Amino acid sequence: MTSHEQGLSTRCIHAGDSLDERGAIHTALYNHSTFAFPDTQAVLDVVEGRAKGSLYTRYGLNPTIRSVEEKLASIEGGEAAWVFGSGMAAESATFLAHCRTGDHIVCIGDAYGGTLELLGTNLPNLGISTTFLLGGEIERLDDAIQSNTRIVFFETPTNPNMEVFDIGAIAKIAKRQGALTVIDNTFATPVNQNPLALGADLVIHSTTKYLGGHSDLTGGVVIGAATLLDPIWTWRKNLGQMMAPEVAFLLARSLRTLVIRVRAQNVAAAALAERLEAHPRIVRVHYPGLPSFAGHELARRQMHGFGGMLSFVLDGGAKATARVVDRLKLFSIAPSLGGVESLVTQPITTTHHGLSPDERARRGILDGMVRLSVGLEDVDDLWADLEQALS
Ligand code: PLP
Repeated sequence: MTSHEQGLSTRCIHAGDSLDERGAIHTALYNHSTFAFPDTQAVLDVVEGRAKGSLYTRYGLNPTIRSVEEKLASIEGGEAAWVFGSGMAAESATFLAHCRTGDHIVCIGDAYGGTLELLGTNLPNLGISTTFLLGGEIERLDDAIQSNTRIVFFETPTNPNMEVFDIGAIAKIAKRQGALTVIDNTFATPVNQNPLALGADLVIHSTTKYLGGHSDLTGGVVIGAATLLDPIWTWRKNLGQMMAPEVAFLLARSLRTLVIRVRAQNVAAAALAERLEAHPRIVRVHYPGLPSFAGHELARRQMHGFGGMLSFVLDGGAKATARVVDRLKLFSIAPSLGGVESLVTQPITTTHHGLSPDERARRGILDGMVRLSVGLEDVDDLWADLEQALS
């Protein structure tokens, strides 16, 4: 049986790991910055690519780094993976490696605020421009792709509206016009969605979120075909964006429980979404698993589970909503997501704070909107907390 025929849980636990000579049950933590060689020929064999071996950690030639990269490639169904010091490092290296001055990117829907700033402010300084299409403008995609468009980028589901985009259909349009489809799969995780199998070229994660899963590490990864990853390698190396070996070790530890964590979060989020939808103070719930949600049918087709993220709109304005958020006790007010502890954020105070009221309205980010990252606490305790805050 090859590793790609094995189930996802098996790959999460075993892919990339090997017993070392002392019998440690998985790949050990090699914190070392450099590795020694018996002779000059052995150094040259690694430097000139004739032999695989450890050399220097910033290059990624470190056994702990390589081990978690193999695991990540296996669980996303990609040929290879490069890890980074953060999700933004993975994104920036990918854009820089695949775009030059004069090139163009199309970004669909709401992306993470840092991504919007990178595409809208930083990359234009290097002569790389981006056309931003809202979800409702997706029919303009064919026209938005220009002869110099190298990348079509999007998240699905999006933050905080949980909009769902058709990965296969978009990848087909991008491919026909010679552009790569790059997906940020952070919200869905490989447990719930496999963009490479649906036609995407590269998948990016902020491993800070579900893949790390315990709110105690910061990292990123890009996964896909080796030919598309090769150009990214020198950017990572020369911008010094490498993930630390301790973080790679911690990430591998977390990945071994990814499937049971995410599936439990799917169940808890679905239960809360249903109860919230029935609550008299809630105007609307955004959750791909709800039959009432606009993207539900598409989500059923392209996702294996609907995720642990949801948002809802309250019947009050910004202040009334903040009072509800402030009354929550089990949900901590924090801007991140994907950990075992439940988090809450009012998007206008964090992720979308920098946008003008007009731009927020255009993007459907309402004053009464609340985003939840559902953790692994007992769902009845989470509901009791929400109910007392809403009362
Ligand atoms: N992508 C998504 C969907 C995110 O939510 C975030 C961060 O919140 C990022 C990328 C950036 O990741 P990092 O904070 O690890 O750089």
